[in-house]
Amino acid sequence: ETLLEIHDLHAGAADREILKGIDLTIQKGEVHVILGPNGSGKSTLMNVIMGHPGYQVTEGSLTFEGKDITALKTFERARAGIFLSFQTPEEIPGITVENMLRTARQEITGKRERIFGFRKELKEMMEDLQIDPSYSERYLNVGFSGGEKKRNEILQLLMLRPKLALLDETDSGLDVDAVQIVSRGVSKFHNGDNACLVITHNARILDKLKVDRVHVLMQGRIVEEGGPELVDQINRDGFGHIKETTV
Ligand code: ADP
Ligand code: MG
Ligand code: MG
Repeated sequence: ETLLEIHDLHAGAADREILKGIDLTIQKGEVHVILGPNGSGKSTLMNVIMGHPGYQVTEGSLTFEGKDITALKTFERARAGIFLSFQTPEEIPGITVENMLRTARQEITGKRERIFGFRKELKEMMEDLQIDPSYSERYLNVGFSGGEKKRNEILQLLMLRPKLALLDETDSGLDVDAVQIVSRGVSKFHNGDNACLVITHNARILDKLKVDRVHVLMQGRIVEEGGPELVDQINRDGFGHIKETTV
């Protein structure tokens, strides 16, 4: 069953074309990985799927569960079930992790979440993930380590339960602990009814996931596609040989 279908997507920012005709289809239950050198347009693709207002689609379309979402706003796409891991860089004193998660879920479902019930669910999820209980009462990003930001990302994923998770894990210099958190969290989230689109060079993040398809992006185009073996191949050989073999 097709979840996301991207057809001849051209998009850019500030009058500059960044994505130059992307075709990509994701079925329910699949895990896709995007690889590509710095500046190839990986994060832009994620942002355009999420409907970030800073990017314009100039050609092509995005279809989600059979519905054209090309013109939808970010919050409408979130309600439809698309999630982009956002690591809010600012510290937000006064907003706790629990508050942030509860507000986000209310925005997505359009329903009020009772504090008590939500807290109980969150507590169970955190126990399951072996996260210290004090964490939910901490102010968002205030003094968070890299690992704690990752825990927050995984909690968002598991508490918001999107149909499509877009995870941009590049160049964040993850330590071993953070890699474990992401790897375990994503595999706990993933099932036959949802799908993940992951940007990462770190094969260890993919350890616990069965990768279905790998797409290599260069200069705004998908220049090579293959199975999971492509991750190891590119980690070994780099992108250079692809440049040479691509017309
Ligand atoms: P990647 O994630 O693959 O490293 P990005 O998608 O972040 O690449 O960026 C692709 C190219 O588009 C880069 O040259 C970057 O400078 C440019 N770009 C990305 N976002 C914007 C933006 N909002 N405005 C202008 N240029 C942008
Ligand atoms: Mg075209
Ligand atoms: Mg990026």
